[in-house]
Amino acid sequence: MKISIAAPDIGEDEKKAVDDVMDSGIIAAGPKVKEFEEKFAKYCDTKHGIAVSSGTAALHVALLANGITKGHEVITSPFTFIASANSILFTGAKPVFADIDVRSFNLDPEEVKNKITPRTKAIMPVHLYGQSCKMDEIMEIAQDNDLIVIEDACQAHGAEYDNKKVGSFGSGCFSFYPTKNMTTSEGGMITTDDEEVAKKCRAIRQHGMERRYYHDMLGFNLRMTDIAAAIGIVQLRKLDEYNFIRGRNAKRLTEGITTDAIKPPKIMEKSKHVFHQYTVLCESREETQKALDAAEIGYGVYYPLPIHNQPYYQSIGYKEEHEVSERVSRHCLSLPVHPKVEDEDVDLILETLNKL
Ligand SMILES: *Cc1c(COP(=O)(O)O)cnc(C)c1O
Repeated sequence: MKISIAAPDIGEDEKKAVDDVMDSGIIAAGPKVKEFEEKFAKYCDTKHGIAVSSGTAALHVALLANGITKGHEVITSPFTFIASANSILFTGAKPVFADIDVRSFNLDPEEVKNKITPRTKAIMPVHLYGQSCKMDEIMEIAQDNDLIVIEDACQAHGAEYDNKKVGSFGSGCFSFYPTKNMTTSEGGMITTDDEEVAKKCRAIRQHGMERRYYHDMLGFNLRMTDIAAAIGIVQLRKLDEYNFIRGRNAKRLTEGITTDAIKPPKIMEKSKHVFHQYTVLCESREETQKALDAAEIGYGVYYPLPIHNQPYYQSIGYKEEHEVSERVSRHCLSLPVHPKVEDEDVDLILETLNKL
Protein backbone atom coordinates (compact mmCIF):
# COMPACT_ATOMS: atom_id res chain seq x y z
CA MET A 1 0.00 0.00 0.00
CA LYS A 2 1.44 3.37 -1.01
CA ILE A 3 -1.02 5.49 0.98
CA SER A 4 -2.87 4.20 4.05
CA ILE A 5 -6.32 5.40 5.13
CA ALA A 6 -5.08 6.22 8.66
CA ALA A 7 -1.69 6.58 10.33
CA PRO A 8 -1.23 7.78 13.93
CA ASP A 9 1.65 10.23 14.35
CA ILE A 10 3.67 8.96 17.31
CA GLY A 11 7.04 10.68 17.61
CA GLU A 12 9.83 11.37 20.08
CA ASP A 13 7.69 13.71 22.22
CA GLU A 14 5.06 11.04 22.83
CA LYS A 15 7.75 8.43 23.61
CA LYS A 16 9.48 10.76 26.06
CA ALA A 17 6.17 11.57 27.77
CA VAL A 18 5.42 7.85 28.23
CA ASP A 19 8.96 7.21 29.53
CA ASP A 20 8.54 9.98 32.09
CA VAL A 21 5.31 8.38 33.36
CA MET A 22 7.04 5.00 33.57
CA ASP A 23 9.85 6.54 35.60
CA SER A 24 7.39 8.35 37.90
CA GLY A 25 5.97 5.09 39.22
CA ILE A 26 2.36 6.34 38.85
CA ILE A 27 1.18 4.41 35.82
CA ALA A 28 -2.60 4.22 36.46
CA ALA A 29 -4.74 7.39 36.84
CA GLY A 30 -2.74 10.21 38.42
CA PRO A 31 -1.52 13.75 37.78
CA LYS A 32 -1.26 13.31 33.98
CA VAL A 33 -4.93 12.39 33.72
CA LYS A 34 -5.84 15.51 35.70
CA GLU A 35 -3.62 17.71 33.53
CA PHE A 36 -5.03 16.21 30.32
CA GLU A 37 -8.61 16.72 31.55
CA GLU A 38 -7.96 20.36 32.34
CA LYS A 39 -6.22 21.04 29.03
CA PHE A 40 -8.82 19.23 26.93
CA ALA A 41 -11.72 20.99 28.69
CA LYS A 42 -10.00 24.35 28.14
CA TYR A 43 -9.50 23.50 24.46
CA CYS A 44 -13.22 22.72 24.11
CA ASP A 45 -14.19 25.78 26.13
CA THR A 46 -16.00 23.73 28.78
CA LYS A 47 -15.70 23.85 32.57
CA HIS A 48 -15.08 20.13 33.04
CA GLY A 49 -13.30 17.27 31.30
CA ILE A 50 -13.61 13.68 32.54
CA ALA A 51 -11.15 11.21 31.02
CA VAL A 52 -12.26 7.62 30.50
CA SER A 53 -10.96 4.47 28.85
CA SER A 54 -12.56 4.88 25.40
CA GLY A 55 -15.04 6.87 23.33
CA THR A 56 -17.60 4.14 23.92
CA ALA A 57 -17.09 4.55 27.66
CA ALA A 58 -17.49 8.33 27.30
CA LEU A 59 -20.88 7.87 25.60
CA HIS A 60 -22.08 5.28 28.10
CA VAL A 61 -20.97 7.27 31.16
CA ALA A 62 -22.36 10.56 29.78
CA LEU A 63 -25.77 8.94 29.16
CA LEU A 64 -25.86 7.42 32.66
CA ALA A 65 -24.71 10.66 34.31
CA ASN A 66 -27.52 12.48 32.51
CA GLY A 67 -30.05 10.03 33.96
CA ILE A 68 -30.84 8.09 30.78
CA THR A 69 -32.36 4.74 31.70
CA LYS A 70 -35.02 2.14 30.92
CA GLY A 71 -38.21 3.61 29.50
CA HIS A 72 -36.42 6.53 27.82
CA GLU A 73 -35.86 7.10 24.12
CA VAL A 74 -32.77 8.75 22.69
CA ILE A 75 -32.86 10.05 19.12
CA THR A 76 -29.70 9.50 17.11
CA SER A 77 -28.38 8.81 13.62
CA PRO A 78 -28.47 5.34 12.07
CA PHE A 79 -25.47 6.31 9.92
CA THR A 80 -22.65 6.16 12.46
CA PHE A 81 -20.33 3.77 14.25
CA ILE A 82 -22.21 1.14 16.25
CA ALA A 83 -21.02 2.54 19.61
CA SER A 84 -23.36 5.55 19.35
CA ALA A 85 -26.46 3.36 19.50
CA ASN A 86 -25.04 0.50 21.60
CA SER A 87 -24.19 2.89 24.43
CA ILE A 88 -27.88 3.89 24.51
CA LEU A 89 -29.00 0.24 24.55
CA PHE A 90 -26.65 -0.49 27.46
CA THR A 91 -28.42 2.10 29.63
CA GLY A 92 -31.71 0.26 29.06
CA ALA A 93 -33.06 3.12 26.92
CA LYS A 94 -34.12 2.76 23.30
CA PRO A 95 -32.19 4.29 20.40
CA VAL A 96 -34.66 5.91 17.99
CA PHE A 97 -33.17 6.60 14.57
CA ALA A 98 -33.79 9.77 12.59
CA ASP A 99 -32.52 9.91 9.02
CA ILE A 100 -29.58 12.02 7.85
CA ASP A 101 -29.20 14.87 5.40
CA VAL A 102 -27.48 13.61 2.24
CA ARG A 103 -25.10 16.56 1.90
CA SER A 104 -23.76 16.71 5.48
CA PHE A 105 -24.15 12.98 6.37
CA ASN A 106 -25.46 14.27 9.72
CA LEU A 107 -28.84 14.14 11.50
CA ASP A 108 -31.55 16.08 9.69
CA PRO A 109 -33.20 18.31 12.36
CA GLU A 110 -36.62 17.96 10.67
CA GLU A 111 -36.36 14.17 10.96
CA VAL A 112 -35.41 14.55 14.63
CA LYS A 113 -38.57 16.59 15.29
CA ASN A 114 -40.71 13.86 13.73
CA LYS A 115 -39.33 11.25 16.10
CA ILE A 116 -40.12 12.98 19.39
CA THR A 117 -42.57 11.10 21.64
CA PRO A 118 -43.53 11.51 25.32
CA ARG A 119 -40.72 9.04 26.14
CA THR A 120 -37.97 11.01 24.35
CA LYS A 121 -35.40 12.13 26.87
CA ALA A 122 -32.33 13.05 24.83
CA ILE A 123 -30.89 13.72 21.39
CA MET A 124 -27.48 12.33 20.48
CA PRO A 125 -26.18 14.27 17.46
CA VAL A 126 -23.15 12.56 15.89
CA HIS A 127 -20.66 14.96 14.29
CA LEU A 128 -19.73 12.48 11.60
CA TYR A 129 -16.43 12.61 9.68
CA GLY A 130 -15.35 15.73 11.60
CA GLN A 131 -18.24 18.03 10.76
CA SER A 132 -20.67 19.44 13.31
CA CYS A 133 -24.41 18.82 13.09
CA LYS A 134 -26.67 21.88 12.69
CA MET A 135 -26.36 22.69 16.37
CA ASP A 136 -28.49 25.86 16.37
CA GLU A 137 -31.51 23.89 15.20
CA ILE A 138 -30.77 20.86 17.36
CA MET A 139 -30.34 22.97 20.52
CA GLU A 140 -33.60 24.76 19.74
CA ILE A 141 -35.47 21.45 19.36
CA ALA A 142 -33.91 20.28 22.64
CA GLN A 143 -34.93 23.45 24.48
CA ASP A 144 -38.47 23.44 23.09
CA ASN A 145 -38.99 19.82 24.14
CA ASP A 146 -36.96 19.78 27.35
CA LEU A 147 -34.44 17.24 26.02
CA ILE A 148 -30.85 16.54 27.04
CA VAL A 149 -28.16 16.78 24.35
CA ILE A 150 -25.31 14.28 24.34
CA GLU A 151 -22.90 14.93 21.48
CA ASP A 152 -21.02 12.05 19.90
CA ALA A 153 -17.93 14.09 19.00
CA CYS A 154 -15.72 10.98 18.70
CA GLN A 155 -14.72 12.02 15.16
CA ALA A 156 -14.70 15.78 15.62
CA HIS A 157 -11.93 17.04 17.96
CA GLY A 158 -11.67 20.76 17.27
CA ALA A 159 -14.66 21.03 14.94
CA GLU A 160 -16.86 24.11 15.40
CA TYR A 161 -20.38 25.27 14.70
CA ASP A 162 -20.90 29.01 14.51
CA ASN A 163 -17.44 29.53 16.13
CA LYS A 164 -18.32 27.28 19.07
CA LYS A 165 -16.45 24.03 19.67
CA VAL A 166 -18.33 20.74 19.44
CA GLY A 167 -18.55 19.09 22.84
CA SER A 168 -19.51 22.43 24.39
CA PHE A 169 -23.21 22.41 23.41
CA GLY A 170 -24.31 19.54 25.65
CA SER A 171 -22.31 16.71 27.18
CA GLY A 172 -19.51 16.07 24.66
CA CYS A 173 -18.04 12.62 24.09
CA PHE A 174 -14.66 12.13 22.44
CA SER A 175 -12.56 9.10 21.42
CA PHE A 176 -8.77 8.96 21.27
CA TYR A 177 -8.49 5.71 19.32
CA PRO A 178 -5.36 5.70 17.07
CA THR A 179 -7.27 6.50 13.86
CA LYS A 180 -8.97 9.62 15.28
CA ASN A 181 -7.76 13.19 14.84
CA MET A 182 -5.66 12.78 18.00
CA THR A 183 -4.87 9.68 20.05
CA THR A 184 -3.96 8.35 23.49
CA SER A 185 -3.81 4.72 22.15
CA GLU A 186 -7.22 3.84 23.64
CA GLY A 187 -9.03 6.59 25.52
CA GLY A 188 -11.99 8.91 25.74
CA MET A 189 -13.22 12.17 27.30
CA ILE A 190 -16.50 13.71 28.40
CA THR A 191 -16.76 17.51 28.30
CA THR A 192 -19.47 19.47 30.10
CA ASP A 193 -20.28 22.76 31.80
CA ASP A 194 -22.66 21.03 34.19
CA GLU A 195 -21.06 20.52 37.60
CA GLU A 196 -23.55 17.82 38.65
CA VAL A 197 -23.08 15.79 35.44
CA ALA A 198 -19.30 16.07 35.80
CA LYS A 199 -19.47 14.82 39.37
CA LYS A 200 -21.60 11.85 38.36
CA CYS A 201 -19.29 11.01 35.44
CA ARG A 202 -16.31 10.94 37.82
CA ALA A 203 -18.17 8.65 40.18
CA ILE A 204 -19.49 6.27 37.50
CA ARG A 205 -16.06 5.72 35.95
CA GLN A 206 -14.81 4.70 39.40
CA HIS A 207 -17.33 2.25 40.91
CA GLY A 208 -19.80 4.96 41.95
CA MET A 209 -17.30 6.08 44.55
CA GLU A 210 -16.82 9.67 45.67
CA ARG A 211 -15.44 8.84 49.10
CA ARG A 212 -13.02 5.97 49.27
CA TYR A 213 -14.87 2.65 49.54
CA TYR A 214 -18.27 4.27 50.01
CA HIS A 215 -20.41 3.56 46.95
CA ASP A 216 -23.31 5.94 46.40
CA MET A 217 -24.28 4.64 42.98
CA LEU A 218 -23.58 1.85 40.52
CA GLY A 219 -20.34 2.29 38.58
CA PHE A 220 -17.58 0.61 36.59
CA ASN A 221 -13.83 0.85 36.23
CA LEU A 222 -13.58 3.00 33.10
CA ARG A 223 -10.55 5.08 34.05
CA MET A 224 -7.85 6.39 31.75
CA THR A 225 -4.20 5.70 32.66
CA ASP A 226 -1.47 8.31 33.10
CA ILE A 227 0.39 6.56 30.26
CA ALA A 228 -2.49 7.31 27.90
CA ALA A 229 -3.02 10.82 29.27
CA ALA A 230 0.67 11.69 28.77
CA ILE A 231 0.34 10.81 25.07
CA GLY A 232 -2.87 12.84 24.92
CA ILE A 233 -1.24 15.96 26.36
CA VAL A 234 1.38 15.92 23.60
CA GLN A 235 -1.16 15.13 20.88
CA LEU A 236 -3.49 17.92 22.00
CA ARG A 237 -0.67 20.42 21.42
CA LYS A 238 -0.47 19.20 17.82
CA LEU A 239 -4.21 18.88 17.18
CA ASP A 240 -4.73 22.23 15.44
CA GLU A 241 -1.77 21.56 13.15
CA TYR A 242 -3.09 18.08 12.36
CA ASN A 243 -6.53 19.49 11.58
CA PHE A 244 -4.99 22.22 9.42
CA ILE A 245 -3.21 19.61 7.27
CA ARG A 246 -6.37 17.50 7.03
CA GLY A 247 -8.25 20.58 5.86
CA ARG A 248 -5.57 21.47 3.31
CA ASN A 249 -5.51 17.94 1.86
CA ALA A 250 -9.32 17.93 1.73
CA LYS A 251 -9.39 21.27 -0.07
CA ARG A 252 -6.91 20.07 -2.70
CA LEU A 253 -8.98 16.93 -3.30
CA THR A 254 -12.24 18.88 -3.61
CA GLU A 255 -10.70 21.40 -6.00
CA GLY A 256 -9.02 18.66 -8.03
CA ILE A 257 -11.91 16.24 -8.53
CA THR A 258 -13.20 16.86 -12.06
CA THR A 259 -15.07 13.61 -12.75
CA ASP A 260 -18.84 13.39 -12.28
CA ALA A 261 -18.35 9.84 -10.98
CA ILE A 262 -17.25 11.24 -7.62
CA LYS A 263 -19.15 13.74 -5.49
CA PRO A 264 -16.89 15.53 -2.95
CA PRO A 265 -18.08 16.31 0.59
CA LYS A 266 -19.72 19.64 1.35
CA ILE A 267 -18.61 22.01 4.08
CA MET A 268 -21.88 23.25 5.54
CA GLU A 269 -22.73 26.80 6.53
CA LYS A 270 -21.28 27.98 9.90
CA SER A 271 -19.20 24.79 10.08
CA LYS A 272 -15.51 24.34 10.75
CA HIS A 273 -14.88 20.83 9.39
CA VAL A 274 -11.87 18.92 10.76
CA PHE A 275 -12.02 16.09 8.19
CA HIS A 276 -11.67 13.06 10.38
CA GLN A 277 -12.69 11.43 7.11
CA TYR A 278 -12.85 12.87 3.61
CA THR A 279 -15.92 11.03 2.37
CA VAL A 280 -17.15 11.12 -1.21
CA LEU A 281 -20.22 9.61 -2.85
CA CYS A 282 -19.30 7.33 -5.77
CA GLU A 283 -21.48 6.66 -8.78
CA SER A 284 -20.04 3.15 -8.61
CA ARG A 285 -18.21 2.30 -5.43
CA GLU A 286 -17.02 -0.99 -6.91
CA GLU A 287 -15.33 0.70 -9.87
CA THR A 288 -13.78 3.32 -7.59
CA GLN A 289 -12.44 0.67 -5.22
CA LYS A 290 -10.93 -1.26 -8.15
CA ALA A 291 -9.11 1.82 -9.40
CA LEU A 292 -7.83 2.70 -5.91
CA ASP A 293 -6.73 -0.90 -5.27
CA ALA A 294 -4.77 -0.92 -8.54
CA ALA A 295 -3.00 2.33 -7.56
CA GLU A 296 -2.35 1.02 -4.02
CA ILE A 297 -4.32 3.82 -2.41
CA GLY A 298 -5.98 2.95 0.90
CA TYR A 299 -9.62 3.83 1.52
CA GLY A 300 -12.39 3.02 3.99
CA VAL A 301 -16.12 2.40 3.83
CA TYR A 302 -17.67 4.09 6.87
CA TYR A 303 -20.22 2.56 7.09
CA PRO A 304 -21.41 -0.19 4.73
CA LEU A 305 -24.57 -0.96 6.73
CA PRO A 306 -26.63 1.55 8.75
CA ILE A 307 -27.24 0.54 12.36
CA HIS A 308 -30.95 -0.25 11.99
CA ASN A 309 -30.02 -2.82 9.31
CA GLN A 310 -27.31 -4.51 11.40
CA PRO A 311 -28.14 -8.15 12.20
CA TYR A 312 -28.33 -7.51 15.95
CA TYR A 313 -30.68 -4.53 15.57
CA GLN A 314 -32.83 -6.53 13.14
CA SER A 315 -33.01 -9.30 15.73
CA ILE A 316 -34.38 -6.92 18.37
CA GLY A 317 -37.08 -5.66 16.04
CA TYR A 318 -35.82 -2.58 14.15
CA LYS A 319 -37.91 -2.57 10.98
CA GLU A 320 -38.30 1.04 9.94
CA GLU A 321 -36.38 2.13 6.83
CA HIS A 322 -34.16 5.20 6.65
CA GLU A 323 -33.82 5.80 2.95
CA VAL A 324 -31.01 8.37 2.90
CA SER A 325 -28.77 6.45 5.30
CA GLU A 326 -29.29 3.26 3.32
CA ARG A 327 -28.48 4.95 -0.01
CA VAL A 328 -25.42 6.76 1.36
CA SER A 329 -24.07 3.54 2.89
CA ARG A 330 -24.03 2.01 -0.60
CA HIS A 331 -22.16 4.89 -2.23
CA CYS A 332 -19.85 6.37 0.43
CA LEU A 333 -16.10 5.98 0.36
CA SER A 334 -13.46 7.72 2.48
CA LEU A 335 -10.09 8.78 1.05
CA PRO A 336 -6.85 9.47 2.97
CA VAL A 337 -6.33 13.08 4.16
CA HIS A 338 -4.53 12.41 7.48
CA PRO A 339 -1.43 14.45 8.39
CA LYS A 340 0.98 11.95 6.82
CA VAL A 341 -0.62 12.33 3.38
CA GLU A 342 1.80 14.34 1.19
CA ASP A 343 1.09 16.58 -1.80
CA GLU A 344 2.28 13.84 -4.20
CA ASP A 345 -0.18 11.45 -2.56
CA VAL A 346 -3.03 13.86 -3.22
CA ASP A 347 -1.83 14.14 -6.84
CA LEU A 348 -1.92 10.34 -7.20
CA ILE A 349 -5.39 10.10 -5.66
CA LEU A 350 -6.69 12.80 -8.02
CA GLU A 351 -5.06 11.25 -11.07
CA THR A 352 -6.61 7.89 -10.18
CA LEU A 353 -10.09 9.25 -9.49
CA ASN A 354 -10.27 11.56 -12.48
CA LYS A 355 -9.75 8.59 -14.85
CA LEU A 356 -13.12 7.24 -13.69
C1 LIG B 1 -14.64 5.92 17.37
C2 LIG B 1 -16.05 6.22 17.60
C3 LIG B 1 -16.71 5.86 18.79
C4 LIG B 1 -16.10 4.96 19.83
O1 LIG B 1 -14.86 5.31 20.28
P1 LIG B 1 -13.89 4.17 20.87
O2 LIG B 1 -12.77 4.96 21.48
O3 LIG B 1 -13.43 3.34 19.73
O4 LIG B 1 -14.65 3.38 21.87
C5 LIG B 1 -18.02 6.27 18.96
N1 LIG B 1 -18.67 6.98 18.02
C6 LIG B 1 -18.09 7.33 16.86
C7 LIG B 1 -18.86 8.14 15.88
C8 LIG B 1 -16.78 6.94 16.61
O5 LIG B 1 -16.21 7.27 15.44
